[in-house]
Amino acid sequence: MVRAPIGRAATLLWLIVGIAIATAHAQPARPGPPRPMPPDMRQRMPPSQQGQPPAQAPAPWVDVHLHLIGGRGPQADYVGAADEAIREMDRFGITTAIVLPPPQVDSQQTYDVSAFVGALQRHRGRFAYLGGGGALNPTIHRYADPAQVTDAVKREFAAAAEQIIEGGAVGFGEMASLHISAAPGHPYEFVPADHPLFLVLADVAARRDVPIDLHMDAVEGETPTPARFATQANPAKLADTLGALARLLAHNPKARIVWAHGGSDPIGGMTPAAIGRLMDAHANLFVSLRIVGPQAPMLNKALTAGGLDPEWKGLLTRHADRFVIGTDSFMVSPSVRGSGPGAGFAERNTPKLQATVHFLSLLPPDVAGKIGRENALRIYRLLAR
Ligand SMILES: [Zn+2]
Repeated sequence: MVRAPIGRAATLLWLIVGIAIATAHAQPARPGPPRPMPPDMRQRMPPSQQGQPPAQAPAPWVDVHLHLIGGRGPQADYVGAADEAIREMDRFGITTAIVLPPPQVDSQQTYDVSAFVGALQRHRGRFAYLGGGGALNPTIHRYADPAQVTDAVKREFAAAAEQIIEGGAVGFGEMASLHISAAPGHPYEFVPADHPLFLVLADVAARRDVPIDLHMDAVEGETPTPARFATQANPAKLADTLGALARLLAHNPKARIVWAHGGSDPIGGMTPAAIGRLMDAHANLFVSLRIVGPQAPMLNKALTAGGLDPEWKGLLTRHADRFVIGTDSFMVSPSVRGSGPGAGFAERNTPKLQATVHFLSLLPPDVAGKIGRENALRIYRLLAR
């Protein structure tokens, strides 16, 4: 009890430093002296990490993949969801987050950036956003059969994409090629990444100098659906997805593709070797890392019980300019009731954010600076805003 005020003062100081850096986020990051980790962050670490030597507080970092759950219709509360995001960002040292609507399809009550942009603007300098998850992704999946993609469909789609960037989005997302259903109400979606409308989107992205955030569960050769995803929503077998991604990357080398969710792979094809091969061949491929704890039921994890996976460490060092952090956190408004997939996924926020801070602390400092912050500022052109 006696130590509480000191703990609070240390936390407050740490927050002020973080906020000051966030406010000046147009400045290039300068590595400062290491700061001690605030006491309450140590208490939040998993017991397995609490016994380790004191870690340093993370250098301020950028999260390029964050969802807000504000509810739908007139009761929607994105102000509450954005406030919740700011609280968590301050707790974990995130200066800037890129918010994006999930990759939706017509069977859902779709929404896009207009639902939450007002809430983001209340926090100057802390947020940027991507658009299209509710406005473009449903169109791609509605026209899953490429034979139906006429020139008129392409023109209308390109115009809608241009409009999103015109409106202030820094890129397109979240778009889905293969999106396996992981919970009731969480849709199964599939079109190959070289679907004609993805090629149109790549051309718009190249012209507007913005990235595309792509959710594509990685399948190398036809693969039976893993048992944990054996539900009615998912098919029994999954087609190869890596070949189509290579063709999308080759279609327009000026289109920056940020492949989402590296480091926690549900299917098994997103190996460091496969990512490395694609990065060697395509300079326009980037990967956002969704770091999870060693116990998470995922494959090809960057973080293992023994620390950083050596194969991942090699890849992250070799292609240090190509990785960013995208935690895939779901920040839920306190007024949202019910148990949709987003609210369920939100329970994983804290372990993921803790694991991410731990992960960054294990990287060589120059690599951590790039992956934690500098690459995001460059890929999403955040400095120019
Ligand atoms: Zn995703």
